[in-house]
Amino acid sequence: MTYEDLDRAHLWHPFTPMRQWLGEPPLVIERAEGNELIDTEGRRYLDGVSSLWVNVHGHRHPHIDAAIKAQLDKVAHSTLLGLASAASARLAEKLVAVAPAGLSRVFFSDSGSTAVEVALKIAFQFHQLRGDVRRTKFLALENAYHGDTLGAVSVGGIDNFQRVFHPLLFHTIRVPPVLDALRYLLAAHSKDLCALILEPLVQGAAGMRLLPPGLAAGAQAACREHGVLLIADEVATGFGRTGTMFACQQEGVTPDLLAVAKGLSGGYLPVAATLCTEQVFAQFLGAPEERLTFFHGHSFGGNTLGCAAALASLELFESERTLEKLPEKIAALRARLFEKIAPLPHVFEVRQKGMMVGIELRRDRTHPYAPSDAVGARACRLARLHGLILRPLGDVVVLMPPLSISLPQIEKLVDGTAAAIGEATSTSHVESPPRVPSPPPIRPSRGVFVAGTDTAVGKTAVACALLRCARRRGFVPVGFKPVETGCSPLPQDALALRAAAGRDDLALSDVCPYPLVPSLAPAAAALVTGSALVRGDLLACAARVRARGDFFVVEGAGGLLSPYTPDTTAADLAAALDLPVLLVARNGLGTINHTALAVAELRRRGLALAGVVLVDTTAEASPDRAHNAHFIEAATGVRPLCTLGHVPARDPDALADEFERRIDVGALLASLAAR
Ligand SMILES: *Cc1c(COP(=O)(O)O)cnc(C)c1O
Repeated sequence: MTYEDLDRAHLWHPFTPMRQWLGEPPLVIERAEGNELIDTEGRRYLDGVSSLWVNVHGHRHPHIDAAIKAQLDKVAHSTLLGLASAASARLAEKLVAVAPAGLSRVFFSDSGSTAVEVALKIAFQFHQLRGDVRRTKFLALENAYHGDTLGAVSVGGIDNFQRVFHPLLFHTIRVPPVLDALRYLLAAHSKDLCALILEPLVQGAAGMRLLPPGLAAGAQAACREHGVLLIADEVATGFGRTGTMFACQQEGVTPDLLAVAKGLSGGYLPVAATLCTEQVFAQFLGAPEERLTFFHGHSFGGNTLGCAAALASLELFESERTLEKLPEKIAALRARLFEKIAPLPHVFEVRQKGMMVGIELRRDRTHPYAPSDAVGARACRLARLHGLILRPLGDVVVLMPPLSISLPQIEKLVDGTAAAIGEATSTSHVESPPRVPSPPPIRPSRGVFVAGTDTAVGKTAVACALLRCARRRGFVPVGFKPVETGCSPLPQDALALRAAAGRDDLALSDVCPYPLVPSLAPAAAALVTGSALVRGDLLACAARVRARGDFFVVEGAGGLLSPYTPDTTAADLAAALDLPVLLVARNGLGTINHTALAVAELRRRGLALAGVVLVDTTAEASPDRAHNAHFIEAATGVRPLCTLGHVPARDPDALADEFERRIDVGALLASLAAR
């Protein structure tokens, strides 16, 4: 059997759709030399992503190889539980010397995920030991990635990685990477937050998203002010990748806890570390019976061979002056990227920080590729024919070469990537988008707030119908449900809104930042789950997602005056968002009174009424239905736009078809646009 056969017979690859994997011949890497990987056929490839972001000085570096061999002649592994080791002691000293000043203690583990778990648990226990037992929540950035173990996934913000595990995760408060929003939430939750975790400067797995300059420094200041610990996850950014040893150092930040892994051993062996300040460490000091011990440890934590490799890697930073040589390489990379890749027709954006690069591909400026186009994967596959190994993040082609890459290799990397992107995005590969009717002229971010006279009146059905109709007319609609209660635990309404809008590119947490389990009014559900809803935060989330499309449909929770916070109702949110209200009422007995009261309240508040829609929420006919529209008009002077017949499932196309049958949707959209 060949290696290919054995692989297909027995391996389960990480982050890999295995059906597809089994259908293609795998590339089998057998050896490496410097910055090149060599396959079983002897073909050479430039390692364009540092073997998944880990390699630093190239493969088979004589100094690291020799250090590992020398250590092997002494001992390969001995435990740190109850014993010390020469290699771990020397590495800890060296790590503290290069880390942001003030980090003085090192807890060793074996992967980025475990380094993050350790940081989360230390932060949590730190406050418990101080007697500040209410500090149990973590604040994390949207689109963050912190690893794959459950704690790390809980603080992550990438929907695809979280969705299926939702019931297993602990609740984390998420914030867009905006300093004002961060400050706001830190203040709002100043008594119940234990730590803020972030990837400084660059969110790697999010697609190499660059954070606003000053965010890490501002976050540190705000954390200090509110007694919240700051955890910097430098698993990806550490060890020179952003141009300095650690990304934190570019903003003069010393976090309370720092997680490092990937590049720590030069990319040779699985070693990771969580560094902390003496202040954090001191909290855990006491007699054994005081129960101050940090009960955590991994069998291979601080593996001796790994520590020897890491020590050798840090020595190379000095002897080869790795960081001093970087500015020239980073500048060359930038120049070449902007010459060869930025001008390509389907390159939406080129993001670079140091040696970390994300090239985002889009069908055109406003439309992403369909997931089935798999354009990023195709580009990376084609890159092999140009002698490059790359791995994308969705439609983002990532370049993250070893720091040892030479200037000619930088040219080869960028030129080969440009060629592969050109081939992957040429029209012969990608079908042209389906023709849609051209959109009516509309200014960006117009939209509507769908409010109900009561709960369970058909708001989601109406919002979905509207989103799908907008989509059919070529809008890029965005559905938003700021708070959904009665989640099971997934927010079903938000899922329906996202599907109706055809916006799988939006994270579920963008569409519904606050999915709450209790079936209560939002403010009450927040109270019993301890998830303090804050008006400013809801508005910040709304503003952020609103900017991602050109037609914004917000669905309220419950009725028009149902409370989100003690002093914010759905009507207040509609007013703050400056959106007209589309009032949805159940077409049944009692609806005339409810609708008339709601219309009167909208008028009292001076809110624009986009219309009233009645919904048959059940299939059974009832005698009152035929009269409701007439008497609502008599009572309010507003003629309901339509009555939607009962549509059993939440199929967006069936809902949209029913909506189109009942009213002139084009005119409604145009009237919302003209406001
Ligand atoms: C890769 C990564 C992790 C997880 O590290 P593993 O070694 O894969 O467990 C955590 N955080 C960040 C920022 C990463 O890029």
